[in-house]
Amino acid sequence: MMEDKLTKYREKRDFNVTPEPYTSKKTSKKPRFVVQKHKARNLHYDFRLEVDGVLKSWAVPKGPSVDYTQKRLAIPTEDHPVDYIDFEGIIPEGNYGAGTVIVWDTGTYRNLKEKEGQEVPMEKTIEDGHVEFYLEGEKLKGAYALIHTGREGRKFWLFFKMKELNRDTRDILTERPESVLSGKTVEELEKEM
Ligand code: MN
Repeated sequence: MMEDKLTKYREKRDFNVTPEPYTSKKTSKKPRFVVQKHKARNLHYDFRLEVDGVLKSWAVPKGPSVDYTQKRLAIPTEDHPVDYIDFEGIIPEGNYGAGTVIVWDTGTYRNLKEKEGQEVPMEKTIEDGHVEFYLEGEKLKGAYALIHTGREGRKFWLFFKMKELNRDTRDILTERPESVLSGKTVEELEKEM
């Protein structure tokens, strides 16, 4: 079942060439999230939530914000293996997603979605297109939402921090460009490889 979810992921990749992980071996008691900064043809950030043995994934072109007034477009992408959570490196030219990846932020999360006092399973909230969770990362902390929405017949998701008392106006992407694992920026990692 978990393996089936990774079919799309595997079809896109040649594991003789890419350093990306093939499978999910690592699981954890507390579910985790990761934001990977991915300098591919277009720079973007990949937001992933550990749900039921895989990483549910969205590409966020403009990256996450700590300012609740900033809603960011998020495009769903294929489920990734849980082992992808600490993947950093260079995907070689000619491969799917070719470019450089760093772990921009990671940590655990808590599902915030309840109905009549009961937690709604994450899978269900994703199916419903209304996901709410509390991130405990190094850079991203607080309640966030991913909402499926449509405009002019086009469907997409929005990723944003939920409203809070004090607005945080920092530009976290510029202030903290580095990996939380290696401390390196995308450019520093590229120079080394
Ligand atoms: Mn990507």
